[in-house]
Amino acid sequence: MEGHVIRIDIQSKHFGGTQVLGPVRFDIQPGETVALVGPSGIGKSTVLRIVSGIDDRFEGTVQRPENMAIVFQEPTLLPWRSAVDNLLLTHTDLDRAGAEAALDRVGLAGRGAAFPGELSLGMQRRLSLARAFAGRPELLIMDEPFVSLDTEMADQMMNLTEALIAQTRPATLFVTHARAEAERLADRILELRGKPATHVG
Ligand code: ADP
Ligand code: MG
Repeated sequence: MEGHVIRIDIQSKHFGGTQVLGPVRFDIQPGETVALVGPSGIGKSTVLRIVSGIDDRFEGTVQRPENMAIVFQEPTLLPWRSAVDNLLLTHTDLDRAGAEAALDRVGLAGRGAAFPGELSLGMQRRLSLARAFAGRPELLIMDEPFVSLDTEMADQMMNLTEALIAQTRPATLFVTHARAEAERLADRILELRGKPATHVG
């Protein structure tokens, strides 16, 4: 898939008087999967918010594509919209058949009319993945997507995520505090360390 290098060049990030991040600089190549690891509270989500553009109050620059998708820890679905409508509202260029096909790819064939509350938590997470991949993102950002799942469901979700990444080939940046997840999914692992945090790897 064509695409541009994503270039992250954070010099520093403060919350009030506290410097949370020092220099964090890395590129993500098109189709590459990079994992960001480190202990809780080190600044991983802060880096993701900066990379995604949700937080622009930092010193430095980020070059990112417009076509981007974010998967949070919790599914963040609209509860009063059906599964299909959750996809159509995010992707205005998608038609109903395209939305149904996206559901099919995550094992939710035929469940398009269901509301999120009618789906199991595992299905809600799969719907959230379907929504992220339906727009064929050039950049995919995931913040601890497999946390708080039991081992079997985490394993299923990782298999599904791997398959969707292989089909769509986005540049992917994902956060985890589980080294095994990082080693399984990522081409490259960056570790945040220190106060203010900077990276190794
Ligand atoms: P991680 O995702 O690695 O667990 P975070 O990026 O969420 O860590 O947080 C890094 C540090 O920044 C923590 O000390 C956290 O308390 C602090 N922090 C995060 N968000 C805010 C905020 N909105 N205001 C003040 N401090 C924050
Ligand atoms: Mg976090």
